[in-house]
Amino acid sequence: MLEVVAKRCENYDKNKIKQIIYNIFSSQRFLNKLNSLDSVLLKPNLLGPYPPDKGITTHPEFISAVIEILKDYNIKISLFDCPGGTVKYKKVLNECGITYLSKKYDIKILETVQSGIKIFGNNPEYIISKPFVDCQSIINLPKLKTHTLTIFTGAIKNFYGIIPGVAKSNYHRIAPNPTKFANIIVDIYSIVKDKIIFNIIDGIIGMDGDGPSSGDTKNFGVILGSYDAVALDFCAARMMGYNPYKIPIIKLAADKYNISLQEIKLIGDFDKNYKLENVNINKSKITNKILRFLSTPLKGIFKKLFWSHPDFLKEKCIKCGECVSFCPVSALNINKVSPIPILDRDKCILCMCCIEICSENAAYLKKSILGKFLIK
Ligand code: SF4
Ligand code: SF4
Repeated sequence: MLEVVAKRCENYDKNKIKQIIYNIFSSQRFLNKLNSLDSVLLKPNLLGPYPPDKGITTHPEFISAVIEILKDYNIKISLFDCPGGTVKYKKVLNECGITYLSKKYDIKILETVQSGIKIFGNNPEYIISKPFVDCQSIINLPKLKTHTLTIFTGAIKNFYGIIPGVAKSNYHRIAPNPTKFANIIVDIYSIVKDKIIFNIIDGIIGMDGDGPSSGDTKNFGVILGSYDAVALDFCAARMMGYNPYKIPIIKLAADKYNISLQEIKLIGDFDKNYKLENVNINKSKITNKILRFLSTPLKGIFKKLFWSHPDFLKEKCIKCGECVSFCPVSALNINKVSPIPILDRDKCILCMCCIEICSENAAYLKKSILGKFLIK
């Protein structure tokens, strides 16, 4: 039977987090495994250049706590993630508060450009950053958040970060609706599944509403850990208030690996029916429904009444062009005259990449009156 441990943790006091994670490892008999381990690659969520207190990326104190435990076992540690788009990796590491970990703990932070790639499959072809394939083992350190395209993001979705930045947008083009995209995520997770030795979700501060980057920062006060990413996502999503059976990435991965979701056992500080307080999951659920609906061909009057597309706030947009270069179908343009990117609505596939990539929170999903009504 698969087991998930969930523990309360109200803040980023590193020593407290260390104790909690140590207890999670111990209760799962993972400390024995650490004794036999030479090296490990840490896979945090470093989506983009966001400060740690925004609840978008894995918090540096959380990562520090894991590093300190591994150091006690003389394990060689490296850390890597591929942020989305063309944003400078150094900028992401600095903004996310990760840069100093390298010097403080003498760990290797791998570079996106020098690391190389490996190709898997042919329909579609998956481009994977080489270190995730070459490493001995991976410890997965995701963030607890809502996600308008995949509904929820935790342990499985975190492996979308093993695709190099710009290559990510290609998979949105190949899979232009949320259900197809969930299949892609599960395929990518499968490529490195056997390397993953443990998963721990940083759910101390996370995000609800329009996650994964434009939602509301929330203090969830929880850390969850498990050997199994599917089991972990199942319990984490249920704790946020979702029906985890209805989240495509969880369902698809459970089917693929014959995991009986009913039998997953939650232990620790919470009853299995416990729900985190004041979590807004409705926005992600309803936006996801709208995106699924709009990915089917609509006709006539209905198309006029029911629409949704990205829009940009001129008071926030700094015209950095990140969204333009990340758009998988070249639906965006930037010129000297317009204060915001210009959208070609006929080309847009509603992949949400431009909204996810905008670190200025200038991009959002504009909805028709009918769409707005449904969101409410
Ligand atoms: S919307 Fe955001 S990502 Fe796009 S140009 Fe403006 S600031 Fe940059
Ligand atoms: S404009 Fe935005 S939502 Fe539309 S296809 Fe491009 S990145 Fe995706």
